[in-house]
Amino acid sequence: MTNEKILKVNHLKKYFEVGKNETLKAVDNVSFEIFKGETFGLVGESGCGKSTIGRTIMGLYNRTGGEVIFDGDNVHELTDKDKFAFHRSMQMIFQDPYASLNPRSTVKEVIAEPMEIHGIYKDKKERLERVYELLEEVGLSRDHANRYPHEFSGGQRQRIGIARALALDPAFIVADEPISALDVSVQAQVVNLLRKLQKEKGLTYLFIAHDLSMVKHISDRIGVMYLGNMVELTESNQLYKKPLHPYTQALLSAIPIPDPDLEEKRERMILEGELPSPINPPTGCVFRTRCPFAMKACASVTPKWQEVEDNHFVACHLYNDEIKDKTPVKELAYQ
Ligand code: SF4
Repeated sequence: MTNEKILKVNHLKKYFEVGKNETLKAVDNVSFEIFKGETFGLVGESGCGKSTIGRTIMGLYNRTGGEVIFDGDNVHELTDKDKFAFHRSMQMIFQDPYASLNPRSTVKEVIAEPMEIHGIYKDKKERLERVYELLEEVGLSRDHANRYPHEFSGGQRQRIGIARALALDPAFIVADEPISALDVSVQAQVVNLLRKLQKEKGLTYLFIAHDLSMVKHISDRIGVMYLGNMVELTESNQLYKKPLHPYTQALLSAIPIPDPDLEEKRERMILEGELPSPINPPTGCVFRTRCPFAMKACASVTPKWQEVEDNHFVACHLYNDEIKDKTPVKELAYQ
């Protein structure tokens, strides 16, 4: 990881119009930066807006407000020519590799397609050599080139997806739940492969996951999202050692500990209630309907995004000295 910022997300908003006069606030005023060579984990329950952020950063969605700056350029204001170059620099790995691979194309065609579209490796023989090289880089062999996606296991299909994402030699990869659909035994292999490729190629990753245990071993820093909002952001070790936001504490307390003695003593913070609808989010703090510490101010005042320790940001009134009365009010929570 370097000190050079490759991506800046400033006050990003992405709203969707859903029906008459209804707006779904998928991403609401989210800011963060990603350093070159870093793995930035983005975590939260399904529906929290993390995948929408990934797609908006990729330019697949237009933004409602704010900006995404990649390598100095505003992603949503690129000319058509610049867009082409941008898509070479930023690629995506999907959760379901099978759905993202054309079942009627051979592996060789799947991996070569982006090269054809972008007009690189024009010579067929050279292109095929590059496909072989990519297959070997992701732990497959050149013998796999003429087979079809359905002939592979889930882990192997994800390797094909990774090879395709690498075909254009990108600098940045948005990995949208890349291991969620895989068996636990295969997840570690894919994480190790992504780390190896990062080292070899100096890649930067935005690694999206719904579970903190999945991002633990790969992320340098982690941002936690809840209902379209970023609620906490810090270095990975710090987040596991000293989570500040009640939502992060609940997510961490749900991760089983492999040691049976420690597991027995583990205190869980069970989150009650359902994730509220992003069409009609709670007033004040969006987490207040599930937060055991909710206080009077939580119903009316939006928590400030503050750096409470070095490189440790959180949005919660528990850490805001301007909020004096911190007495929990049961009626505010679980409404
Ligand atoms: Fe809980 Fe209030 Fe903090 Fe929100 S601001 S997380 S409701 S204590």
